[in-house]
Amino acid sequence: MTRKTTAKRSIVEDGIDADRRSMIKGAAIAGLAALPLTAAAKSASAQQARDAQPVEDPRARFPNDQPAQEQAWPGLQRDMTPRPDCGETSYRGSGRLAGRRALITGGDSGIGRAAAIAYAREGADLAINYLPQEEPDAAEVIELIRREGRKAIAIPGDLRAEEFCGSLVARAERELGGLDILVNNAGYGWFLPDILEHPSEKFDQTIKTNLYAPFWLSKAAIAVMKPGSVLVFTSSVTAFSPASAFLGYSATKAAIVAFTSALAKQVAKRGIRVNGVAPGPIWTPMQIYFGAPANNVDALNASTPLGRMGQPVEMAPLYVTLAEGASSFVTGSTWSADGGRL
Ligand code: NAD
Ligand code: MG
Repeated sequence: MTRKTTAKRSIVEDGIDADRRSMIKGAAIAGLAALPLTAAAKSASAQQARDAQPVEDPRARFPNDQPAQEQAWPGLQRDMTPRPDCGETSYRGSGRLAGRRALITGGDSGIGRAAAIAYAREGADLAINYLPQEEPDAAEVIELIRREGRKAIAIPGDLRAEEFCGSLVARAERELGGLDILVNNAGYGWFLPDILEHPSEKFDQTIKTNLYAPFWLSKAAIAVMKPGSVLVFTSSVTAFSPASAFLGYSATKAAIVAFTSALAKQVAKRGIRVNGVAPGPIWTPMQIYFGAPANNVDALNASTPLGRMGQPVEMAPLYVTLAEGASSFVTGSTWSADGGRL
């Protein structure tokens, strides 16, 4: 959780002392025991017992020995070794987003792909945006969504143009029959440790992709969204602990946190919630195209207390939780999932 969310939680928890907490817990358990279980509840708990997942050590759940590798931007996760885990074989839904219509940018690979797979398995219809060069990755995601019986609309195009952003939202809304969720996830960054060698065009591409595009997309989406709709932004651990070689990138990710919070305050009167996710280092195409030295992969694995990078599938629960109606009181927050790095 970010500092903001942690602070919120500790205020709530500090108001209830430990004895009182255990009394409340005990009373709740006693109350539950007194209630007769209905047949439906019995079968639900039997199903849960059958579905129980093994308790796993979070340090060992995923590898931390990816070989050094490089691709040209924007990269294809199809050609990565090992391929990132976006939940293709593991994410299981339970109807948390049934009937929702979502647009996800950067939905072809990495974190956006994990969100797309999870949303489809939670019952949402989807439009995904990506760059034309990423068609092979996007085709796999479209197939995975359709396999869930959900609608999947592929809309390739470059988000650095305002006109395209407007037409993207309009097409997603038209073809999905409405728009309830916008996930602003596409992003760009480049490893540049010296400002004197930082080309203006890289700075410009970073700001256009990470700030202008979400601004244009949010504007177009909010204009057509109904109360109950949700925006989810993708910030980064670099917003709170900026990386020196990611000057422009870190600045945009910090700006996204402020943008999320300000926009949430602005559109609360429309009944629209706005939140963000701040991932730590995650194994995605971004890690192998941005021009970092070969040993950067090892450094990223070593940079978290859990001793490894995260996988995109580990971000999916946050995107689902922030988007679902049950989180109706959560707005203006940015939640972290960073292996303890912050
Ligand atoms: P990724 O390369 O899989 O996804 C980034 C996506 O952005 C690409 O797939 C591409 O479709 C899209 N994109 C980039 N420029 C675009 C443009 N001009 N027009 C249209 N689409 C464009 O990598 P990822 O790590 O999954 O990145 C997703 C988000 O997560 C980004 O915002 C990134 O900054 C953020 N993030 C990543 C990490 C990490 O360690 N991987 C950490 C924190 C935050
Ligand atoms: Mg991609």
